[in-house]
Amino acid sequence: MAALASTSTPTRPNIIAITVDSSCAQMVQSIYAPMFNALQQHSNLTFSTNTDSAMASLNSLSPRAILLMDPFLIRPKPAYRALAGALASYVHAGGRVVLCGVFSSMVSSPDFNAWLLRRWGLHWELGAYHRVDNCLGEAELRWAPALLERFSMKAVSLKGVRREARLYVPAEGARTQSFVFPAQEVQNKEQAAVAWEMVGSGWLGYVGDVNCEEGSIKAVVAMCGVRDEKCYGCEKEGSVRCARCTKALYCGKECQKTDWKRHKAICREAAPKA
Ligand SMILES: [Zn+2]
Ligand SMILES: [Zn+2]
Repeated sequence: MAALASTSTPTRPNIIAITVDSSCAQMVQSIYAPMFNALQQHSNLTFSTNTDSAMASLNSLSPRAILLMDPFLIRPKPAYRALAGALASYVHAGGRVVLCGVFSSMVSSPDFNAWLLRRWGLHWELGAYHRVDNCLGEAELRWAPALLERFSMKAVSLKGVRREARLYVPAEGARTQSFVFPAQEVQNKEQAAVAWEMVGSGWLGYVGDVNCEEGSIKAVVAMCGVRDEKCYGCEKEGSVRCARCTKALYCGKECQKTDWKRHKAICREAAPKA
């Protein structure tokens, strides 16, 4: 399985999902099937299961976004260096790379911290690992369509993420949810389970979720920027914007009414400041 391209429609943006280690490919395919299905509604998704095919796809598809779904690229192997460098150049030039899938559950701390600093110039470090209720943080992407305001996620959080780059953070008063350990209030509220940071002219995303929660799927779809012109309520093209915030987009009154329950929480803040 080198590069399995789905049928191309010219108007749809391309997304490349990369697993560097081929032994991860099958696991990723089965766990993340719901995420791939969601992305395929809006894009042509191509799977690359080794560095050569990833490099070829990157050079030929002008992708809207790239999902790096396992952490093996951070190893200092000569064979990996070229792709890691190409991904960084792609982001600096305006691309989007999202670290997701089994990346967070399989990466080790010192390697991750060093790679983020060396390759991306970010002081991100792996932080707490637990299940808690998360809510939207202050990252600009919070205005993206269909993001959940709050959901429970078992995730490897990051320390050292700027406030303006935290997309999901522990909810107010959030307590750890575990079958084994007693619930505790989350100590370090500065951590982010999902992050979205500008690097050069592009973006680097991180999704710490170790499962495949609906809220994380929606975050990845938003990070890929493939649904920006769609109605916030359904899959149709959007035509009218919320008059108050001028950001939320709908196909019509019906969807606007249905989405208000979700959207009202962020509409006031999204509104242009007078
Ligand atoms: Zn709609
Ligand atoms: Zn609004």
